[in-house]
Amino acid sequence: MRYISTRGEAPALGFEDVLLTGLATDGGLYVPESLPHFSLEEIRSWRGLPYAELAYKVMYPFVEDAIPADDFRQMLDDTYAVFSHQAVAPLVQLDSNEWVMELFRGPTLAFKDFALQLLGRLLDYVLEKRKQHVVIMGATSGDTGSAAIEGCRRCEHVDIFILHPHQRVSEVQRRQMTTVQGDNIHNIAVKGNFDDCQRMVKESFGNQSFLGGKTQLAAVNSINWARIMAQIVYYFQASLSLGGPDRSMAFSVPTGNFGDIFAGYLAKKMGLPINQLVIATNRNDILHRFMSGNKYEQHQLEHTLSPSMDIMVSSNFERLLFDLHGRDGAAVKTLLENATRGPVSIEDYRWKHARKVFDSDAVDDKATCDTIREIYEQNEYLLDPHTAIGVRAARNCRRDSAVPMITLGTAHPAKFPDAISESGLSVEPQLPAHMADLFEREESYTVLDNNVSEVQGFIARHWKNA
Ligand SMILES: *Cc1c(COP(=O)(O)O)cnc(C)c1O
Repeated sequence: MRYISTRGEAPALGFEDVLLTGLATDGGLYVPESLPHFSLEEIRSWRGLPYAELAYKVMYPFVEDAIPADDFRQMLDDTYAVFSHQAVAPLVQLDSNEWVMELFRGPTLAFKDFALQLLGRLLDYVLEKRKQHVVIMGATSGDTGSAAIEGCRRCEHVDIFILHPHQRVSEVQRRQMTTVQGDNIHNIAVKGNFDDCQRMVKESFGNQSFLGGKTQLAAVNSINWARIMAQIVYYFQASLSLGGPDRSMAFSVPTGNFGDIFAGYLAKKMGLPINQLVIATNRNDILHRFMSGNKYEQHQLEHTLSPSMDIMVSSNFERLLFDLHGRDGAAVKTLLENATRGPVSIEDYRWKHARKVFDSDAVDDKATCDTIREIYEQNEYLLDPHTAIGVRAARNCRRDSAVPMITLGTAHPAKFPDAISESGLSVEPQLPAHMADLFEREESYTVLDNNVSEVQGFIARHWKNA
């Protein structure tokens, strides 16, 4: 399978190169040139498969040129064995035809483990074959950093440097990053804010001379295609558990960068019957404003109780825009260049096309807390604030009560205790047993000034073969 850029000018690449690349050279994102399509009969034959085996069926067409089948199977077995539930992505019922899919049974208690546990293994496999080494450099305000560190801790050919804003991430989130020991793992606390961290990462990708040509940077944010690919699987898994593909499903997805929900859109295009995808945002609602009024316009960043969805622009949305424009890269390029200068719209018929499957809702902090409380009172079940936004949007946007509605449970409630206490509940979410000693584990991180040459110098001195 070949991968092409959403802006139409960068060269097409194979899977290995897409895995190691961040943005395409024309500033676009890579997408598969064509998607595999599965018949209902084939999907039906997957009922009852263990998660790792289903993952193989769904993903192998994307990687087959690069990885022999047995090696890929082994990688998937290893990836999903680290999850703490036999079903990997278990469903919990909220109401007669309403479910939460718990995607937080991985090592860092958020859905990002599904992709980053696989990404670490894919990187090491490809780098071993090519006798190459990479340095992962990333900025995090929370979930991505810890999932990336856990995903790369055993990689031989990867050093990982994660920048977080010093004293500005929650203690659970910091400890999930800084208590992972390994000589290829480096946590940097920058005396600045998240934007400062992100700016330094961007600048470093733009000019990698500080590495002296001996290694190269790789990205682990959700512009990396492999992350999207891994997230397609659980849509199939949920559907097959609830009578699919012989009935259609609806999904509600707490959304920030549009990665997770884009995977659901791909599942539909690959043949899974999905009749509704709900984009659930917090007050950072650029996607909701687009879906409800065909206007794409950047607003100021708001800090909310669901920090993993606090974004101003939504990077993977470009991948949907590419399809909505008949895969015309030049049109996408023009549109997004215009969008940096002010509000943009797309042709009405294209927007209406998107609205056939997507609905959207924006949920503020108060409604988030109300939902956490309501679900707890109804079911004695605790939602994290991101998942609560998904459930609220699912209930507000539901089209057909005969269609099962599945909200993606993106994080464990113990990761975000502030939202639980703000909701007025007197319960305290408990960390799962395998993490109960998180607050006793030894931390290691380095505090650096908000200065790019200091950070780059640190990286240059500390990667494995420096
Ligand atoms: C990353 C994240 C999201 C948003 O996912 P996108 O793929 O960026 O839309 C939602 N909830 C949690 C808990 C997250 O960590």
